[in-house]
Amino acid sequence: MSKYIFVVGGVMSGVGKGIAAASIGKILQSKGFKVTAVKIDPYLNVDAGTMNPVEHGEVFVTADGDETDQDIGNYERFLDTEILRDNYMTSGRVYQSVINRERNLEYGGKCVEAVPHIPYEVIDRIKRAEEKADAEITIIEIGGTVGEFQNALYLEAARMMNLKNPDDVIVVMVSYLPIPSKIGEMKTKPTQMAVRALNEVGVMADFLLCRSTHPIDAPRREKLALFCNVKPENVISAPDVDSVYDIPINFEKENFGDKILAELKLESRQKDLVEWRAFVDKVNSAVEPVKIGIVGKYFESGDFILPDAYISVIESLKYAAWHNGRKPTIEWINSDLYEKEPEKVAELKNYNCLVVPGGFGSRGIEGKISAIKFARENKIPYLGLCYGMQLATIEFARHVCGLNDAHTTEINPHTMNPVIHIIPEQAEKMANKQYGNTMRLGAYPCLLKEGSLVRGLYQQAEIFERHRHRYEFNLAYRNKMEEAGLVFSGMSPDGELTEIIELPQDQHPFFVGVQFHPEFLSRPLRPHPLFFGLVKASISRA
Ligand code: GLN
Repeated sequence: MSKYIFVVGGVMSGVGKGIAAASIGKILQSKGFKVTAVKIDPYLNVDAGTMNPVEHGEVFVTADGDETDQDIGNYERFLDTEILRDNYMTSGRVYQSVINRERNLEYGGKCVEAVPHIPYEVIDRIKRAEEKADAEITIIEIGGTVGEFQNALYLEAARMMNLKNPDDVIVVMVSYLPIPSKIGEMKTKPTQMAVRALNEVGVMADFLLCRSTHPIDAPRREKLALFCNVKPENVISAPDVDSVYDIPINFEKENFGDKILAELKLESRQKDLVEWRAFVDKVNSAVEPVKIGIVGKYFESGDFILPDAYISVIESLKYAAWHNGRKPTIEWINSDLYEKEPEKVAELKNYNCLVVPGGFGSRGIEGKISAIKFARENKIPYLGLCYGMQLATIEFARHVCGLNDAHTTEINPHTMNPVIHIIPEQAEKMANKQYGNTMRLGAYPCLLKEGSLVRGLYQQAEIFERHRHRYEFNLAYRNKMEEAGLVFSGMSPDGELTEIIELPQDQHPFFVGVQFHPEFLSRPLRPHPLFFGLVKASISRA
């Protein structure tokens, strides 16, 4: 059985297509179907790895080392299944394959054209993802907004698939219904126009998901159904919520899952969302706060603060708090501040715990190092992720080992004490300007030291975690740092790469730095041991 659900967006970007797609997947999975999800990004970048996180949001890394859009993270978190490289496509990737095939004479002398050859390639890719995941239902989210030139060829793929198997392919349009404050009424016209743009390319919406600040009422539901050619019961209300984890449950209040199954000529196999509901109850019953600070730099976009660049870190911290029975209060701290006003670092004592997430380049790093020093000296539970681990070793080298100019060669190539240096094969790639998808990426094994804090948290001797970096700890400094008290508690199996450092538990309640990104493996129902341990340590300390 192969069924396909296309999720497209109307009116504006950011309407929550990714969460809608993930929630639909969750519902159908919980009704007993094997589900996978595919993300299509219409831009020409081959992957998300070369994009600025402020502009594009987080770069999510898959187990097989793909640098993808953050929606792949939403799918992995909601579905709790591994989503791999085949489930992510961009126009760059699609065009590249078609052009390569043309160069290899694989089109047998035909004129290769945008239509049908690009949609054919898209369809092949959707089917490959479905086969690899052995999925019964594949959800395909088309990025961007209907009406943009960029996503027309993907809608064309949906049209072709629907024409061939009308009972197996449906389209969900996620649209936005504004309520202008001076008018005070929910307006349907932008959505009507968006549906018309969809119809113009030969695609009909089977469902309209009505995003708004408020639920949609009966008159507007009827109006949209009539003008947009959608059954009234298939116009689904999707008002704003406090927690995205409520969304599958809200959708089910309108029997969205069974309505989708009916359109696909399927029937539910089991009672749905049992564990999910229990999790949401846990979320709603957590009242006592835990205050967590994230010291980073990718927050500001003009006059707006956008935490999207750290979404997996933020969600991981939430799961850890909820499963510890606490309500997470997460604050963004721009590390530039501690460079301009060093005395302000003392305000960090107001946080129960601190995280320095991944990053690149020099801006704000001295501020991050000051924050790490403060956390170390004042015994504030600290978790450093990737750059946050590298900077923790630099801080330790400078202030405990007395190597005043200790640095990473990413920032100071001429330092006398390159505590963090480039992985040799990475140096070669950088010299050749091979930047795209060339970092140390994806899941690698790591062996945990007996008796260490992290070994106790993972309850395992070997772990697999996902990476995305070019630099690493310089082993020439290991002895000196160990003598000064730093514990090397996680190493690659060959002992060449330092994956985890920590402080002894009798000296600090929780001070851990990891070269990998545990945030990519946190799941709502299975909080990651490191984040869980961080929050737990901050509660016992308080
Ligand atoms: N800039 C550092 C490196 O390339 C850290 C990367 C990261 O935090 N993801 O190694």
